[in-house]
Amino acid sequence: MDAEIKTGDDIFVCQLCGECCNGFGGTYVTHEDIINICRFINSEPDTFIKKYCDPSGSRHVLTRGSAGYCVFFDKNRQCTIHPVKPYMCRAWPFIKTLIKNPENLDIMANSCPGIKKGVGHETIQSIVKKEKDRLE
Ligand code: SF4
Ligand code: SF4
Repeated sequence: MDAEIKTGDDIFVCQLCGECCNGFGGTYVTHEDIINICRFINSEPDTFIKKYCDPSGSRHVLTRGSAGYCVFFDKNRQCTIHPVKPYMCRAWPFIKTLIKNPENLDIMANSCPGIKKGVGHETIQSIVKKEKDRLE
């Protein structure tokens, strides 16, 4: 099966269910994310952090709005900052930790119906590296 898997699109197709924008865990925002989003929504970093972020250790996560969804998720289940959404959202599900722990992809698939299960670990690692290079 893995011989047919060449790119990220072969193991992940977003179903637009919105579940990754809801619930526990939070969406981390980097300094660069904050700058990009501020430009997009015409805000200043300090104001943005006060209004749209919660602290999480030494970092910030986007705050939650109604029904536990990210504050930038709207009723029609769309990301209102899609063109500048945080690195974490753009990278999903090809997050860097999968290079070390590729077995986690099957666990992530339990809450993300767009992820294919049962992909070989080496294939996952290779795809995550390619996707990471593409984004950075
Ligand atoms: S949980 Fe997965 S399938 Fe659903 S919107 Fe998020 S990325 Fe797409
Ligand atoms: S920034 Fe957009 S994609 Fe990311 S969690 Fe919020 S609504 Fe979802």
